Amino acid sequence: MHLCPTFLLLLLRWVRLHLWVRRWRCSNGNNSRLPTCAQRRWAYLRVMVRSLYYNSLTSSDVIMDSLMEPIFWVVDVLTRWFGPVSVFVCLVVVLTSSILLIAYVGLLPMVLSTYSPPWIAWHIGYGHWNLVMIIFHYYKAIRTAPGYPPKVKNEVPFVSVCKKCIIPKPARTHHCGICNACVLKMDHHCPWLNNCVGHFNHRYFFCFCLFLTLGCAYCSISGRNLFLDAYSAIERFKHTDLEKSGIPVTGMGLLIGILTPGQSTYQTPPPTYTFRDKMFHKSIIYMWVLTSTVAVALGGLTIWHAVLISRGETSIERHINNKETERNATRGKVYKNPFNYGRLNNWKVFLGVEKRSHWLTRVLLPSGHAPYGNGLTWDIYPIRKDMMPV
Ligand SMILES: [Zn+2]
Ligand SMILES: [Zn+2]
Repeated sequence: MHLCPTFLLLLLRWVRLHLWVRRWRCSNGNNSRLPTCAQRRWAYLRVMVRSLYYNSLTSSDVIMDSLMEPIFWVVDVLTRWFGPVSVFVCLVVVLTSSILLIAYVGLLPMVLSTYSPPWIAWHIGYGHWNLVMIIFHYYKAIRTAPGYPPKVKNEVPFVSVCKKCIIPKPARTHHCGICNACVLKMDHHCPWLNNCVGHFNHRYFFCFCLFLTLGCAYCSISGRNLFLDAYSAIERFKHTDLEKSGIPVTGMGLLIGILTPGQSTYQTPPPTYTFRDKMFHKSIIYMWVLTSTVAVALGGLTIWHAVLISRGETSIERHINNKETERNATRGKVYKNPFNYGRLNNWKVFLGVEKRSHWLTRVLLPSGHAPYGNGLTWDIYPIRKDMMPV
């Protein structure tokens, strides 16, 4: 019976363990039967839940921030994942490519086979010119740095000091919180370009908006009849799907003797639409809705920027000048924007038109010429009236 000592040994160990656990519980003042790691997690969870309502500093803003935290995390991860290319830039490329695909695969063969030669020449000529202008200006707007003031000691006159960069700010320079840098003649930070719009890429940005609006308006106007046809065809698809087995001939069909009763009570089956037909019509509807929407929305933005350029202002200066106008009006004075050189001169300066031929070579054709001036110093209206002798 040598099982007996083994049993006694096990019993003794169990009793010692039991006594040790009781002693540990007493010393911790804890009667919980949960393991330590679970206890810690439970305590953390209780503190976390309590902190949501047992906190004198809690407000709706704190709760909203906490709830939005996962969204910020996703955006942060996506931004890091995409690197220098933003989600918006990808969206512009994908949407433009989808329209091009429809135009080349669906519309071009139809235009070549059904349109007269002058119309074919117009569509191919205008369409490709507009496309080149959009791609050129978008690429240049993304790739061209907006221009930054020098960070080393220099003789450039400045109007203030940036509190964040701790460097002197020349006239028309503003700090961009997203780029975390001061930008020369800053207009705004554009997420669609993933770049700031400033002195060196303002023209590219505006021309991109202008030519994209023109391109969308061109697609919308020339594709209007195709859209109406496609829309009615889609309506017919629905009926066709419902009447796949043919529809019974009733009323007039029987009266005028198209079919004698008893011979056949069904019409010829309606024409069948292939998958290709359906895809074509749906693509036309997609293209027309997208281009019309962009033409209206972007057209409004382009007109607004054109008004600002005519006044010699940037988007930021519009707010500053409005405040200055109001401030001067209260003192009985009239505020004059010092960078407004007159409507036509403003456009010439903006587009870099120095002679007549430049309207063709620098405005209607892709041109990578540098903007007028260095963005650091500016001519003031009363001193030099004619900025560019044209
Ligand atoms: Zn700054
Ligand atoms: Zn920026």
